[in-house]
Amino acid sequence: NYAANDSYNRPQNRREKDVADTVRHHYNARPEMGLRNRRFSPIINLKRFNNWIKSVLINKFTPKKDLVLVLDMGCGKGGDLIKWDKVNVDGYVGIDIAEISVNQARRRYQNLDASFDAVFYSGDCFSTPIYKLLPPDQRRFDIVSLQFCMHYAFESEALARQMLENVSSVLPRGGIMVGTIPSSDRISYRASKMAPGTLQFGNAIYHVRFESPPNLSFRPPFGNKYFFYLEDAVSDVPEFVVPFEAFRALAEDYHLEMIWQKSFREIFMEEKNSTEFGPLLERMQVIDKNGNPGINGPEMEAADFYLAFAFEKRGV
Ligand code: SAM
Repeated sequence: NYAANDSYNRPQNRREKDVADTVRHHYNARPEMGLRNRRFSPIINLKRFNNWIKSVLINKFTPKKDLVLVLDMGCGKGGDLIKWDKVNVDGYVGIDIAEISVNQARRRYQNLDASFDAVFYSGDCFSTPIYKLLPPDQRRFDIVSLQFCMHYAFESEALARQMLENVSSVLPRGGIMVGTIPSSDRISYRASKMAPGTLQFGNAIYHVRFESPPNLSFRPPFGNKYFFYLEDAVSDVPEFVVPFEAFRALAEDYHLEMIWQKSFREIFMEEKNSTEFGPLLERMQVIDKNGNPGINGPEMEAADFYLAFAFEKRGV
């Protein structure tokens, strides 16, 4: 009885049920905007910028081989399907805890005329072992992608370990894990500058709110909760700090070795004039044809909150 029947997989590990349910309800309730309406989003430039970053990451790290299979954990409404088509993957499996989003992703794929096969499941990738999520013939991938979702796994050590176990068990040696998460360094830096007596930082379009004064060394590295708000995207949803060095060390237990990590700002500065990704900035409307960035001020500050990473499976 895999996630194939689209039933919501009840978490197998101990977890604060409210958080998983809040997250699931939040994303299920977000309307599918469609390309036409997306143009009117107050954070359209930020969305385009984030999409460009994900394209850079996907292009850089998708293995160049004859047959490439991708597992998109936390696939949401299928916002990365076109990016995977552009790098010519052959097969795609998307899983997300929010079953309404999964249905929207499936519909998006059906309307896409993509050149790869895709299947979609609803399930909890961080608390359920992979053999309960995917059928036996769909448990081998060349790349696993975790875009803007892995921070939900850092609620507890058990969830973070299950997430890494799931990733590692579907990758052969040389397989790749890529993702985007909020930067623990940025959170710690910005939180250290919060005005005395306040428990919040951010700007007009995003903010991070703590329930109590945070311990900025983030030790122990799990369960460091904050509430995140991003205009027109995320409304005060609980998230967890991913202390990067702890994540990196934990990943080694699963034979996943970090090969690349950069903040979104660094990626922009390094790649904006590159022959490979510079022209894509204009095509994805992140800059206009005169080279002026569509993203600056508060939106750039919100983008700078994130980093991207790539790990490679070593050993057996
Ligand atoms: N990856 C997509 C993207 O980049 O457009 C969606 C990102 S959205 C910010 C975060 C997604 O993570 C949501 O769709 C949410 O339902 C999903 N998610 C959160 N916890 C999850 C879990 N335990 N298992 C699977 N998906 C999860």
